[in-house]
Amino acid sequence: MAKTRDRILFSREAIQSRVAELGAQLSQDYQDGEVVVISLLRGSFVFTADLVREITVPVNVDFLTTSSYGHGEHSTGRVEIVHDIRTDIAGKDVLICDDILDTGITMRGVVEHLAKKNPKSIKTCTFLDKPSRRQVEVQLDYTGHTIEDLFVAGYGLNLGDYARNLPYVFVRETVEE
Ligand code: 5GP
Ligand code: MG
Ligand code: MG
Repeated sequence: MAKTRDRILFSREAIQSRVAELGAQLSQDYQDGEVVVISLLRGSFVFTADLVREITVPVNVDFLTTSSYGHGEHSTGRVEIVHDIRTDIAGKDVLICDDILDTGITMRGVVEHLAKKNPKSIKTCTFLDKPSRRQVEVQLDYTGHTIEDLFVAGYGLNLGDYARNLPYVFVRETVEE
């Protein structure tokens, strides 16, 4: 059986300092008001928890769960809202927060869904971005790091049913014996 090795891309410390920078930037950009942070479950729960604690303006946090048909490596382009937000975002500044922007299908679907609720503004933020995988056009306003086409895990991102709790981002590699 092939052996595997986990290669760390972003350590706990590296993540912490980058998230602090994002939080400082957001605090500046929203300095005259407040922001409704909408966290896309489940992947962004860790990133959102860290990010909101770096934001110094008033923050209202809500959660939205999506499911893409044919989950996994191949998406079909449709996003289902499995559990919607409860906050009334009409007239509010909204920041959608996700773990990673891949094909863009999830984020675009969520932006379209939330836009119907008449917020004052919608911005997007992901901890990671894989631009080489993009299938649909979507605006990404804030991101922690741009990465290559790699399947990453940890820091909220799953590897099968596990690894969301690991405090670093890693790639599981196969080792030749
Ligand atoms: P998109 O709709 O942009 O293709 O996919 C976004 C979602 O796919 C992310 O929120 C995440 O749940 C999942 N995803 C995309 N790339 C990765 C990855 O490298 N690792 C993990 N664990 N999930 C990913
Ligand atoms: Mg996700
Ligand atoms: Mg996932």
